[in-house]
Order: sequence, then C-alpha cells, then structure tokens
Amino acid sequence: MFEKVLIANRGEIALRIHRACQEMGIQTVAVHSTADAEAMHVRLADEAVCIGPPAPKDSYLNKAAILTAATLTGADAIHPGVGFLSENAAFAEMVEEHGIAFIGPSPEHIRMMGDKIEAKEAARRLGIPCVPGSDGAVETDAEALRIAEEVGFPLIIKAASGGGGRGMKVAYSIDEVKTALSICRTEAKAAFGDDAVYIERYLAKPRHIEVQLLGDGQGNCIHLGERDCSIQRRHQKVIEEAPSPALNATQRRRIGETVTNAMKELGYRSAGTIEFLYEDGEFFFIEMNTRLQVEHPISEMVCSIDLVREQIRIAAGAQLDIRQEDVKIQGHAIECRITAEDPDSFLPTPGRITDYHAPGGLGVRVDSQLYSGYAVPPFYDSLVSKLVVHGQNRNECLMRLRRSLSEYVIGGIKTTIPLHQRIIAEKRFIDGDYDIHWLEKWMGLKK
Ligand code: ADP
Repeated sequence: MFEKVLIANRGEIALRIHRACQEMGIQTVAVHSTADAEAMHVRLADEAVCIGPPAPKDSYLNKAAILTAATLTGADAIHPGVGFLSENAAFAEMVEEHGIAFIGPSPEHIRMMGDKIEAKEAARRLGIPCVPGSDGAVETDAEALRIAEEVGFPLIIKAASGGGGRGMKVAYSIDEVKTALSICRTEAKAAFGDDAVYIERYLAKPRHIEVQLLGDGQGNCIHLGERDCSIQRRHQKVIEEAPSPALNATQRRRIGETVTNAMKELGYRSAGTIEFLYEDGEFFFIEMNTRLQVEHPISEMVCSIDLVREQIRIAAGAQLDIRQEDVKIQGHAIECRITAEDPDSFLPTPGRITDYHAPGGLGVRVDSQLYSGYAVPPFYDSLVSKLVVHGQNRNECLMRLRRSLSEYVIGGIKTTIPLHQRIIAEKRFIDGDYDIHWLEKWMGLKK
C-alpha cells in the first residue's frame, strides 16, 4: 500500500480524499495556491506545498509544479480529485512516467472517454445504447442540415470536448441550425480549444440517470446502482438522489449489467460513472466520467462502500474484493450542492464565514471545507458544502433533509440553502416526479 498520497485538488474534495487516506494509515500532502493557504485540507494534511498563485492555470492546473511537489515530498501516488487535472490524460501519463501511481483510470481510457464523439463510438461498440444523432463529428453546414432532417427537432449541438454543462446549443427548427452550429463551435473553441461538435436528438422530458462503477483493470467490475441527477440548472446538477425514484429493481439490474459487462470488456480500472438520459423506459448514453464525481457520497451512503478507499486500493494494484452480490442498496440518500451564490440571482458570494454550524445526527453527512473565520476565495468553483442525508426510505430521507437544512448555519455570506429548502418543499420533488427541465421551469427560467 502507498505510504504517502499527494492530493492535487482543493476544497471539500481534497478534504474528502484526505479523510480516506487517514483512515487507511496513509500520509497526505496538500498542494495549494496562495489563496488557499488557510484551507482546511491544508491545515489537516501531514505536509503542504504551495504550488503557485490563485489562478488555476498557475496552480491547480500547473502539472510541473504538482509533479515537483510530489517528487520533493516523496509521494508515491497522486489523487487528482474532481475537475482540474482529474480527466487530463497527459497529466496521468506524466505522473506514471515519474514512477508515481495515478489514482484513476489508465491514460488511454481517460483520453477515449474525454472526447465525447470517441466515447459515443466506444459505447456503441461495447453494447451501450446511445442518443440518436450524428455518426461522429459534423464538419459542414450542409452536413448538419442533412443530419437535422434525419434526427428531427428539437436537436442539440454538443461540443466533443464539452464539460461542466457548457458547449451545448439547442435548435428548434431548420432555420436555427446554422446559427446554433456556429455559436456552439465558437464557444467550444474558446472554452475547450477544440471546435469539433456533434448532433443529438434533444430529448423532451428525460431524467439524468448515471451508474456508478468500480473496476480493477484485472477483469473485475461491479456497479453500485444509479444516481438520479435530474434536478439541474443550466445543465448542472443541483440535487442528486440514490436510488432513482423512476427505476424498479429489474431496470436497475439490467442497466447495471450492461455497464459492468461493457467496462469488463474494456478492462476499466478505478471508479467511473456512465451517464444516461432515461425516457419512456429507455436508456441513452450521453457520456462517461473517468473519475470520482461530486455526487459520489449518495452511492457510498446507500451501499456503505468508501469509493475513494477502493480507488486507492485499486491504484496500489489490489484486486476488487467486493463482488456484485455483496453490493446491497439500502435505504435512500439525497445530496444538496450548497454553493456560495445568491439563491435568487446566482451571483457568486465569496467572503468570510462569520458563523458556522453544520447539521448532524443519524444519517447526516456534511462534506465541506467551511469553518468559522474561513474566507471563501473568489477564484474557484462556488461549491462550499455537500449536505448528504440517508434514510431508511425516501420519505425518512426527505424529512431528515428538511430538518438538516433548517439546522445549517453558514453566516457571513449568502448561500443556496434557501433555494434547496424551497425545492424540497415542492410537491413535484416530494413525489419524485421530475425531469431534467423541471427545476428551470419551476424557477421561471424556461417554458
Ligand atoms: P457535460 O459533460 O457538460 O456535463 P453532458 O453530455 O453530461 O454534458 O450533459 C449534461 C446535461 O445536458 C444532461 O444531464 C442533460 O440535462 C443535458 N443534455 C445533454 N444531452 C442532451 C440531449 N440529447 N437531450 C436533452 N438534454 C441533454
């Protein structure tokens, strides 16, 4: 097993990884920007190295600085966390070339799934059903118009390198195709440095359902059931739950088997998630995330499996010692992503926390970097806390979530706690009767 792991990330996820390492008797190295010198994971880690100024490109995306820190501290593995370099195949390669273990999949699989066009081709090959659309990239306007006729309207134009809900444009008629195509290309080029796009049918009322899996790259692969992430704003997840209120045990087993068979065939290593849109009883692959996901704790809560611990064991060469039949999904879990944003305008609200009290009690987990006196820096993602609640059933979970949100005090800055309180009081949410468009419609942002 590793003796020392460097955590190449910040915020709640860095803390989450530190906790898993501590429980395994592994020392941790925190790397941080000058803006994060007072961060909780930096305080708790066994060692800390400043890797640069606040801008992510100079610190958390600075591959050379991170590798230097790993070499100087004698770390034998690097956990990339979520975002930043977690899906950067070149970084994974560099880490391995330095004789350091990368706690994640092989660079080859990261690369394959990082390009959404290639990922869809791989999915099709592996027997995973996909959203109908173009076969690969769309090169010209004429080609786009021809495919649009075939696929029908509405359709969505998506960037091959897109992520974080960006690089997508919906077209409702043939007149809109050319403009949507050009906007999507320009945005994709600016955001991801790649203007390759493809076309998919835009599903009218799907749910976003994703399957969590673990593979050891040695022929073993299991799934940990699904998460329903349909409560979204601007294609970004706001609340997630496991299991999905929309699936029954047979559907769960079937999609789980499809995914594990495919990943066994691929020889996939580490944690991963396959994302689907689910409509009228059918699953359509949209993408695969070759990393830990923000919402991983809800799967941990219903399965009682520590995903980060498993990632670390697998990276150290261990075989998966959990068999599919050992995975028992028990009860229900919901996660609220609490961000440092105004709950009405969604403007970021960085600043100092004057008062902090996190909820607790049976079945309540708070993954957060916050503490009283901490200043939320303005340079990074606005996620400041994940409130994760588990109950024997969905109703108990909802009651516990309501209680926990009302107990949560984050003073000094505005957060989205009031928004979460309003959403979970809505009948459609309580009934589990929602699709990916519901939240925005309810907020009056979409017709
Ligand atoms: P990202 O990598 O940016 O998260 P995804 O491909 O995972 O992009 O899509 C994010 C969200 O965008 C989905 O959860 C869904 O809400 C919406 N979306 C993507 N593709 C489609 C589609 N074909 N039809 C309807 N909605 C879609």
